[in-house]
Amino acid sequence: MRCLRSSILLALLLSAVPPAAPAAAPTLSEPAGWLQQYLRLDTSNPPGNEQRAADFLAGILQREGIASRMVKTPEGRANLWARLSSPASGGRAVLLLHHMDVVPPGPGWSVEPFAGRVRDGYLWGRGALDDKSLGIVQLAALVDLKRRRAPLARDVIFLAVADEENGGLRGTAWLLAQHPELFQGVEAVVGEGGRSQTGAGGKLLWWGIEVSQKRPLWLEVSTSGRGGHGAGLNPDSANHQLVQGLARLLGAPPRFRVSPPVRDYCRAMAPLQNKYWRRIFSNVDAVIAENGPKEFLMPGMANLFLDTVQVTVLRGGDRINVIPAAASARIDVRLLPDTDANAFLKNGERLLGPGFDVKVLVTSPPTPPSPVSGRLYGALERALRPEAPVVPTFIAGFTDSRFFRERGIAAYGLSPFRLGPEDTQGIHGPNERISLPELDRGVDRMRRILSFYVSAAQ
Ligand SMILES: [Zn+2]
Repeated sequence: MRCLRSSILLALLLSAVPPAAPAAAPTLSEPAGWLQQYLRLDTSNPPGNEQRAADFLAGILQREGIASRMVKTPEGRANLWARLSSPASGGRAVLLLHHMDVVPPGPGWSVEPFAGRVRDGYLWGRGALDDKSLGIVQLAALVDLKRRRAPLARDVIFLAVADEENGGLRGTAWLLAQHPELFQGVEAVVGEGGRSQTGAGGKLLWWGIEVSQKRPLWLEVSTSGRGGHGAGLNPDSANHQLVQGLARLLGAPPRFRVSPPVRDYCRAMAPLQNKYWRRIFSNVDAVIAENGPKEFLMPGMANLFLDTVQVTVLRGGDRINVIPAAASARIDVRLLPDTDANAFLKNGERLLGPGFDVKVLVTSPPTPPSPVSGRLYGALERALRPEAPVVPTFIAGFTDSRFFRERGIAAYGLSPFRLGPEDTQGIHGPNERISLPELDRGVDRMRRILSFYVSAAQ
């Protein structure tokens, strides 16, 4: 225990100190200020409420003298489009794509997810990485071209879409089908899906530009049976039929294989690995057998070699003593680029057995990878290579890029931020955030990419 005299002395000293002034709020760059406001708009999907985000972005474009167009689906889902045109472009354009909707925040946050809080040098909030920061970086680069009155050898289109997090059917897919005029002359797209890799001490090891991805096959399976009282035997229970059918489906052994875009990805990655992993990455055909990998793989890597089946939603009864007459499950299937979706579906129906109704909620045809060449890929490489090597990547997720690849338009997934694992765990998880200096560096990178892309010299 401290002696009384020194406590009195300390109290006297403390009383002489003037009260501390409140800490000054850190000054945000213009794009960081935009992102802060953007993060304050709750666009959780469902329902999306993208209109509020589209209005906000349209306001910035209007202040910069850039005309924009709001395009709404019959359900009222808003998408925002703007085109910076140049007579020198010959009508050809790059499309800057991002989605305004976010996944609902979920539990576990240490800050309010839609407050746009700045803390510890980070801007916090749902969408800080997926995908509002990319949208702001694209917007800032577009505004920069306009302010500088830069000569454009290509048009630049800014497109903010709805509904990506729920499959994109009321966003990009709908726009492509109903409003082809918005995409006139688009020769390449830059959207989400890329990533960077950091090593010890946060050192940037490489930039990954996503050129190929798995495809969704989202299913709803339902069955019906005899409902009634929970007491007694009832083999016709819908719940029991569902559980047994799903067990047969999940019990089928997974079949591994190396599909060509995954082989290309592994070969591109091999030179960036240490000796141990270089051998694995450059020999995947020898490492992957049909019944599984013959060697230890990096976490998550096995997903690149098989079609995955995940039962994510189960619906049955809600009372312990009542047997429901109907039950259903939603299944998130992810297919390799060259899997025959119809054959996969037929096999799934066979495994489930009789009495099941199988509905396809979202599907996507096979598409070729985007070429590792061309004007946009060249601009990405030129802008990013001074910091780290640029590699084409394959991802186990899916993005709206698939809708463009289906139409033969090259699409590239980019994350213009150097992110460590502690950053990326916020994507679809709690405490999503972006470092403020990294956001500003992302703006610089996107400006450089666009400058190289639109410059006539190239
Ligand atoms: Zn996203």
